[in-house]
Amino acid sequence: MGINERIKSAAAFEQALKVIPGGVNSPVRALKSVGTTPLFVKEAKGAYFTDIDDNRFIDFCMSWGVFILGHNNERVSQSAIDAVSRGSSYGIPTLAETTLAEKVREAIPSMERLRFVNSGTEATMSAIRVARGYTGRNILVKFEGNYHGHADHLLVSAGSGVATITNASSAGVPDGFVKYTVVLPYNDVDALRSYFNEHGDEVAALILEPVACNMGVVTPTEEFLKATREVTSQHGTVLIFDEVITGFRLSRGGAQQRFGITPDMTTVGKIVGGGFPAAAFGGRADIMKVLAPDGPVYQAGTLSGNPVAMAAGIETLSQLSRPGFYEELEQRSDRFIAQLEKIIEGKGITLNRCGSMFTLFFNDGPVRNFQDTKRSDQERFARYFRNMLQRGIYVSPSQFEGNFISETHTPEILDYVLQSISESID
Ligand SMILES: *Cc1c(COP(=O)(O)O)cnc(C)c1O
Repeated sequence: MGINERIKSAAAFEQALKVIPGGVNSPVRALKSVGTTPLFVKEAKGAYFTDIDDNRFIDFCMSWGVFILGHNNERVSQSAIDAVSRGSSYGIPTLAETTLAEKVREAIPSMERLRFVNSGTEATMSAIRVARGYTGRNILVKFEGNYHGHADHLLVSAGSGVATITNASSAGVPDGFVKYTVVLPYNDVDALRSYFNEHGDEVAALILEPVACNMGVVTPTEEFLKATREVTSQHGTVLIFDEVITGFRLSRGGAQQRFGITPDMTTVGKIVGGGFPAAAFGGRADIMKVLAPDGPVYQAGTLSGNPVAMAAGIETLSQLSRPGFYEELEQRSDRFIAQLEKIIEGKGITLNRCGSMFTLFFNDGPVRNFQDTKRSDQERFARYFRNMLQRGIYVSPSQFEGNFISETHTPEILDYVLQSISESID
């Protein structure tokens, strides 16, 4: 699978740079940290996308985990086309919003009431506002290396693209805006308990990625996840699971189903919109009751519950409820991971995996938290990324991100990927 020179993509990037900062609408897409320039996509189908130079790539980024059914799933795309043919937005309720809300709640019963928004950023921002309104408290506790979108008060020690910039946070966020944000190390039960022992009664919300995916995949210890539930119950703090990636990914009911821990509130995104801008926040009915128009916490959106996104979400969740879907995906991932483990043995690489998500860290030791991920060799990863690209495989362009296996990553595709990984790391 030889790759043409990326002549058109290079020209497209030059043109974009003149009108879009950094040439991209989301920083990691620039591929700067892996020492190259972006690909411009023409189209995608299944596990593949094609760039404007007519190179076809096997995709492991999958729009950051959105496409668990593969790109451009026929029925999902058709449902969106049908919806748009009836009109694309009204600012007036539609039946599709209730239908999708019911489907989300059926999969994630702890979301007794939920509301749709347009992005994961909005979902976490709104969930935290609700938690603060409900508790009448200010402090928000988050974990190092967890990413919850780019709202001001959440850009502290954040993962994802924020992890590749030097100050590990963002300029343009006044100190006062993060005054109430407390950051604790991930997977550290002692630090969590000791903070809550002292300040628990002042904490409005504890937010976390129940399986971290934005510092690369980092799985929680069982003890840690249990402790998040215990301390928040003890102190009347709202426990928010940010399942924007893990929802409908790690099981139909997300990480909370997989690990058997029920949060008070949950955010979902990515998969739920079937490739369109939709996300949701929700939780216990008594908590969600504080939202306007019933309660005093304001939250709104011109395009929230957009009918095209709702249609794509409904069709996606319908396909995901097919019996055996997650078992098959898990087994396929198991086989891939088992072979991958053999390939990387003795190569100074750590493989983290949960379900159909995985990250290769160019790192000798175990990776359990943000500090561990920071020890990874970025230069070696960049060479690996470029090597994989030459072999026609687009892995997620950072060690601080996950790779995603979809229904359309067939055993044949995965075998080719394994061979390519083996060659690339040698
Ligand atoms: C992607 C992501 C977000 C942000 O979602 P956007 O739609 O990019 O705003 C928030 N939380 C987690 C865990 C995510 O993976």
